[in-house]
Amino acid sequence: MRDTCVKAPLRGFFDEKQQSRKSKMNGKVYLIGAGPGDPELLTLKAHRLLLGADVVLYDRLVGDEIIALIPDAAEKMYVGKAKSLHSLPQGEINSLLAKKAKEGKSVVRLKGGDPFIFGRGGEEIEELVEEGVEFEVVPGVTAAAGCAAYAGIPLTHRDYAQSVRFLTGHLKDGSTGLPWDELVHPAQTLVIYMGLTGLAEISDSLQRFGMLGSMPVAIVEKGTTKQQRVFTSDIENIPQVALDNEVKSPALLIIGEVVLLQDKLSWYN
Ligand code: SAH
Repeated sequence: MRDTCVKAPLRGFFDEKQQSRKSKMNGKVYLIGAGPGDPELLTLKAHRLLLGADVVLYDRLVGDEIIALIPDAAEKMYVGKAKSLHSLPQGEINSLLAKKAKEGKSVVRLKGGDPFIFGRGGEEIEELVEEGVEFEVVPGVTAAAGCAAYAGIPLTHRDYAQSVRFLTGHLKDGSTGLPWDELVHPAQTLVIYMGLTGLAEISDSLQRFGMLGSMPVAIVEKGTTKQQRVFTSDIENIPQVALDNEVKSPALLIIGEVVLLQDKLSWYN
């Protein structure tokens, strides 16, 4: 059994001293979600930390208006990736975060949307834990929430959907690898991130597993930004709609009856 009476306060005292010495030497990493595009969707916390940053490492999905908020004195580093064009390999980003923090800097790692939703946030802070670097995680508005709101598509609705699933259409190995049988389910909304490249496969597979070809689908391109475009169709025809309109990344797929509400509830642009 641990002797808590006498030693615990002392241990606490030394821990604190050690901690304060450590934090004087080491900076800290803030893993921050920047939201899907509209700078006003940044949280107050994200904004405050951004203004106090010494170094900011940011991704492709972080919009220009948010980059413009970074103070001039801060070192700005673009480490983003366009698909299959990694400007800095993931391992190097992870190490760079630790290195900069160990120089005593306040390091902001800014990611599109929320860092823990298809954002590799977990991988980046795992290395920080291993290296003993202090960090905080600041959640952001994920694309599903932002795009759905700005497109006028409630992801759940008592008449249409009691559950919602967030999925990625793009695995590490390039395949979609989705559990199709689980996805064809009544009263469920599907939100597919990174689903544009695999759209034809997604459309075919869902129908093969029993989804009606008439199931409503929306694609939200550059959601919440001034360039937002929303296309609605059905699961059978959506690949053609995407081609005809030259839809580009970042784009989010929303599949389910809730999409029918878009006509009535759309408000942005
Ligand atoms: N961590 C992010 C997701 C990163 S994965 C988040 O929580 O939102 C990148 C994918 O997110 C894109 O391929 C796209 O499917 C989606 N996405 C991110 N921002 C978007 C936006 N503004 N409009 C539409 N889709 C977006």
